[in-house]
Amino acid sequence: MDHTKLAAVKLWLISPPPADATTGADAPRDLPYLSHALFALIPVTDDQVERLTCDEWWRMYINEEWFDAASVPEIGAELAHITWHLLAEHAGRARDQDVDRSTASAWGIAADITISDTLLPDQLKPPRLPAAVSMNLPGSRSAEEYFALLSRLPAAPSDGGSGTVGPRDGCGSGADGLRRCNEYGPDADIGAVSKHGATEIRRKVAIEYERHVSGRGTHPGDALRWVKRIANPEIPWESMLSATVRRALGWAGGRGEYTYTKPSRRTSVLRGVVLPGQHRPVPRVSIIVDTSASVDDNLLARALAEVDGVLMALGVPGAHTTIYSVDAAVHTVQKVRRAREAKLVGAGGTDMRLGFQGVRDERPRADVVICFTDGDTPWPSSPPPGTVVIAAILGRPGFQLPPTPRWALRVECLVCDQWAR
Ligand SMILES: [Zn+2]
Repeated sequence: MDHTKLAAVKLWLISPPPADATTGADAPRDLPYLSHALFALIPVTDDQVERLTCDEWWRMYINEEWFDAASVPEIGAELAHITWHLLAEHAGRARDQDVDRSTASAWGIAADITISDTLLPDQLKPPRLPAAVSMNLPGSRSAEEYFALLSRLPAAPSDGGSGTVGPRDGCGSGADGLRRCNEYGPDADIGAVSKHGATEIRRKVAIEYERHVSGRGTHPGDALRWVKRIANPEIPWESMLSATVRRALGWAGGRGEYTYTKPSRRTSVLRGVVLPGQHRPVPRVSIIVDTSASVDDNLLARALAEVDGVLMALGVPGAHTTIYSVDAAVHTVQKVRRAREAKLVGAGGTDMRLGFQGVRDERPRADVVICFTDGDTPWPSSPPPGTVVIAAILGRPGFQLPPTPRWALRVECLVCDQWAR
């Protein structure tokens, strides 16, 4: 293994081009943000792979024959490609999408499309890598979105679902989480980057990558979402949702949050007489639930339980809560004690405007409306009079979530939070 050549390739990727720029298209690529990742990679020679693959522990498997014959820019492009699989955590994300041997090829293409998007502005895209444009797919989407789009396409006849993933299939387990027969196990004494180590590398690269793209002015969609996730870890949606409900109820009550049923301190003095803690009406809450097939049931149950918890903690009685379950038609309007008791029926298209119409017709009117939906719905042009509306969008990490009206407080609830780490 020619380590001098490998060192030259890494330097070609990170160094600035010489001032005279005589080297033209093959000039060094000036990507110092990659250095933390490039120097962590552990090279392993392996003639079973076609060119270059990676495993989840940041080992790169190099076909020596290919390596010796290829030019520095050619190897540089492949090296940047493999490195982005590891930076973007494609193995863990593939597991979140239940990628298996039969779907590995679609996932590999999806992940490669996003890497093409990232590498293109720096003229680093390996020519063989698929791109969104050439596949008639929309640009700047996430690997998860491309995977969903590709999964809907009929499988290529040659694909046949052989059910095996070998050393020459795809870009290695570092891209899809599926271990190949040629790869070393996590404990092999050839060195490995730990999960924690990888998180640290991603953080350093994310900060410098953000600087790199902001200087350039073009923003590859998925890579920038990746930066945001790594550099600004998200607050769990559960706390965001309960804080928003608390805030909305506070506004409805005309001031900051407080407990509606909290007994007055004078209660103990006037034995047997319970005075209300506040001379203010208890807010009414209406909940509109999207029960169309595209909404994840478990996520919906968790979100409703979260709202229940807040309402209970703030002392909003069940009699003040109305639940509408809606898809293309309002199926049921239930008055229930707790949100999770609602019997949710439906499945079909989605039109949340029907639920809002129900709220509009309600007497006495609701003070706070919480609408749980995947967001793929038309919205009314204005909120029901006198209400604070929360739009809780239920989605999957990595997918673009639909917009919500300006008049609604938006909270995004995602199926799992692992990818936000
Ligand atoms: Zn790849």
